Amino acid sequence: MTALWKAARPTPTGSPFDAGARHDVVVVGAGLTGLSTAVMLARRGLDVAVIDAGDVAELATGANTGKISLLQGQRLAAIRREHSAALVRAYVDANRAGMDWLTAFADSAGVGYTRRTDLSYAQSIGGMDAVRAQHEAAQEAGLATRMLTAAELPMVPFPAHGAVALDDQVTIDPMLVAQSLAAALLEAGGTLHTGIRVTGAHALPEPRVDTAAGPLFARHIVLATGTPIIDRGLYFAKVRGTRSYCVSFRLPGDALDQTFISLDGPTRSIRPVSESDGPAGSAQLVVGGNGHPVGRSEGERAAIDDLVSWTRQHFPGAEETHRWSAQDYESHNLVPFVGALPRGLGRIRFATGYAKWGLSNAPAAALRLTAEITGTPRSARPKWMTTIGTRLTVPSDIGRGAAEGARVAVELADGWAEAEGRAVPVDRPREGEGTIAHRAGRPVAISTVGGVTRGISAVCTHLGGVLDWNDAECTWDCPLHASRFAPDGTRIEGPALRDLKKLR
Ligand SMILES: Cc1cc2nc3c(=O)[nH]c(=O)nc-3n(C[C@H](O)[C@H](O)[C@H](O)COP(=O)(O)OP(=O)(O)OC[C@H]3O[C@@H](n4cnc5c(N)ncnc54)[C@H](O)[C@@H]3O)c2cc1C
Repeated sequence: MTALWKAARPTPTGSPFDAGARHDVVVVGAGLTGLSTAVMLARRGLDVAVIDAGDVAELATGANTGKISLLQGQRLAAIRREHSAALVRAYVDANRAGMDWLTAFADSAGVGYTRRTDLSYAQSIGGMDAVRAQHEAAQEAGLATRMLTAAELPMVPFPAHGAVALDDQVTIDPMLVAQSLAAALLEAGGTLHTGIRVTGAHALPEPRVDTAAGPLFARHIVLATGTPIIDRGLYFAKVRGTRSYCVSFRLPGDALDQTFISLDGPTRSIRPVSESDGPAGSAQLVVGGNGHPVGRSEGERAAIDDLVSWTRQHFPGAEETHRWSAQDYESHNLVPFVGALPRGLGRIRFATGYAKWGLSNAPAAALRLTAEITGTPRSARPKWMTTIGTRLTVPSDIGRGAAEGARVAVELADGWAEAEGRAVPVDRPREGEGTIAHRAGRPVAISTVGGVTRGISAVCTHLGGVLDWNDAECTWDCPLHASRFAPDGTRIEGPALRDLKKLR
């Protein structure tokens, strides 16, 4: 599956890898967090190298919906339910700073975007409480939101009972932004290495990242890897990875002008595409939704097919052009985690937990990481950085973490128990299918993709979860902490760093 934004785009190539090279900062991850941090630091005169296991914007950054919004569905109400009004305001201010930085960058780099009204809407009357709660939280945080009744809504072909609206939000091509950031990094004297996986990061005896091709040394390391790839601080257990689906369509008639996200289920995220905010002459509409925790779905392909049938029902004649999926991480604290990792001696930093609102949260995180690395005095930092940086853990954070921890324990036990129920040999899976069995008490994962049947260990190399077959992407996904692997066992993403063991 390939995202609309990635189709027919040449990927920027990296520089040759120079094992043992020393830089001021090594940034791991060429997504929006890593690239915006790297550009900010390089423009401040630091020698920055970015290294990615894949290409630029390999994961979520190249496969999202491309909306930059301060409204963000029902995020503000969710944060407000558990935190102070001051923290919600700081969250909004951080996202405004991120949005402003990204749009200013887009202006300077000649990347187009469109200003649109964003609506958080109710599909049924039952969703109106959530709409009102979001309106109140947004107003309290200083946003000029408007409540719209069904009669006041723009004409839309899908069920909508009311909405909260915020004008002047943005749609942008996320891949084009990432590629332009990579170009800006190189222009500012930075280095980019693609196709090289980092297998470790250490603060002592001097800050270093390890790769199969050799180490890189730096004064500072930034882990911009979605979820942190080292376990210090146990951040893998303080976030939850959620996968979601997107489909793009060519429409027979005019596209919508506004962006929408439903607050009552099933989630529908609707985003028009025009030539100023997407690939020329292709799709006019992206519909996303049907998210679920990674590795905990009975049918990923069914989730995406459901988006297609919903769109065809409400937009007759819609012709599918691309379908894709990706994952992002939500912090149990509801606000992203950004800063120094514990026991990293202030040399290893990270950012995670944007809950699918990374197009503004990632540059906001980059602003904070840059302030910390360049030693901007606290008194000179914006108030939102201090408010967010000094927030306290609240009981509901612990409650959410405990509930997720219990679910992880159940998934762990169930995975091993289910594998025990079926011994190898098993029937060869049909094309595009995978099955778990056991061999001498160890779970094995058997799949058939592209006519090749492979058997590998079904045990995640992070913390031993038994993997689940993702029938949309044809991957093995871990229900514990969202690591993913290709059918041949190659690690794709998540906190796992090693490939799955091949069967002997
Ligand atoms: C379906 C979907 C729709 C979304 N829609 C929106 C939207 O409309 N608006 C919005 O604001 N946000 C949206 N988001 C969220 C947004 O896409 C993400 O928050 C953002 O892209 C995260 O950027 P990142 O750089 O932190 O992570 P990523 O883009 O995931 O980048 C991490 C990078 O690290 C690299 N990496 C990982 N491990 C290693 C390793 N060991 N060695 C080397 N490199 C490594 C990866 O290859 C990857 O390139 C959406 C997310 C999803 C899943």
